[in-house]
Amino acid sequence: MHIRLLSLGVVIAWLVTLTLGQGIAQKKKRPNTSQNKGFVLVIDPGHGGKDTGRLRGSKSMKHEKSLNLTIALKLGKYVKKYLPHIKVYYTRTTDRYLSLEERVDFAHGKDADAFISVHCNSVEHKQVHGTELHIHSFDLPASKYLAKLINKQFKQRAGRKVRGIYDADKRQKNFYVVQYTRMPSVLVECGYMTNTSEEKYLNSDRGQSIIASAIFRAFRVYTQSKRPRERREIVYQVQLMATQKPISPDSEHFKDVPKEVKRVPNKHSKKYKYRYVTGWEYTLKGARRLLNEIHSVGFKEAFLVASKSGR
Ligand SMILES: [Zn+2]
Repeated sequence: MHIRLLSLGVVIAWLVTLTLGQGIAQKKKRPNTSQNKGFVLVIDPGHGGKDTGRLRGSKSMKHEKSLNLTIALKLGKYVKKYLPHIKVYYTRTTDRYLSLEERVDFAHGKDADAFISVHCNSVEHKQVHGTELHIHSFDLPASKYLAKLINKQFKQRAGRKVRGIYDADKRQKNFYVVQYTRMPSVLVECGYMTNTSEEKYLNSDRGQSIIASAIFRAFRVYTQSKRPRERREIVYQVQLMATQKPISPDSEHFKDVPKEVKRVPNKHSKKYKYRYVTGWEYTLKGARRLLNEIHSVGFKEAFLVASKSGR
């Protein structure tokens, strides 16, 4: 009896060790699995369905949504052919509507390592032409690196006029898909549909192939090099003030604030129910720079708030 009890104890101890051991083994295994999941690229052809993007200049041309899709599919085809270890997903492969939020959610769902959105540009002045690359912030090293590589390919190999790399500060506008994606992300403007000769180029099979292969070559260099890490787990915003009664974020009060102001509910106070925030920074460096700017335009009490990005 004594022996049996003892052996039972041993068995229990052994079971406990085994279970713990498994737990440890699983814990160790999990990061490995995600590391070994392979590189995932999400390609996002801009617009689609009821959202045509820029309308074609004439009947013989195509709407922006179709150009974006054709170039995006070509890009994906090159990646699948020449970099077969990379997993490629498209936010859409047909002419269907998707909200910006759905595109970002899709990329997060696929645990993407890079996100490339494909668009064609337009502007009032017909002379304007060339490519542009858009990222959320120059403080995001991997996004910046990928944008630089694409820009270089456009200029040196594709012989395009390059208009450079823009971030939210430079263009004075946030672009949803590069702002909210938590992985390195670039939005490529392949050229201006409002420029007659560039529109023809964008509509030609040759032009589309040159653009897609330029993006592909840049992406290949990106995946094969020791690229910088980019962290987007924490988002910093500047809180300007809080009020008892709501005031419009567009009011005169905020006219000197360099970025868009948003009014959000204040969960921390029953009296001051509304708080006003600005900025969307993924680095403390960028956040401090913005805070200084906000202080200098008169919001002396402004401070930083940090939150986990995503839901
Ligand atoms: Zn577009």
